[in-house]
Amino acid sequence: MSECIFCRIVEGTLPSKRVYEDDECLAFHDVNPQARVHLLVIPKRHIPSLADVQLSDRPILGHLLTICHRVADEAGLTAQGYRVVINTGAAAGQTVFHLHFHVMGGRTFRWPPG
Ligand code: 5GP
Ligand code: ZN
Repeated sequence: MSECIFCRIVEGTLPSKRVYEDDECLAFHDVNPQARVHLLVIPKRHIPSLADVQLSDRPILGHLLTICHRVADEAGLTAQGYRVVINTGAAAGQTVFHLHFHVMGGRTFRWPPG
């Protein structure tokens, strides 16, 4: 069994509330939501963070962003707007070292983020 919790979610050995899945990526509800809608979009392949991506990862990165919009739209967020966040490194708030895009909506967000 993988030590990475998001790899375990991909494997199905850790439960999650999935909203989208295909051969390359998975989207599911964050267990500790920071907005009315808070989804995570991840590649199935283990990539620790945005700091680890290579030029060869361009297709999966583009795909993940497309799916961010798809799940946000399906959650009814397009009209009001939504936020997509990639925390990269511990100082930026990354706690799970498997690349993930936060898709959040359903409330007003401030800028700059804390
Ligand atoms: P980070 O802080 O790395 O940017 O985001 C990690 C996110 O993963 C957090 O928002 C946290 O709530 C979420 N998370 C951590 N463990 C689990 C889990 O076991 N299941 C789900 N669905 N989300 C998790
Ligand atoms: Zn992983």
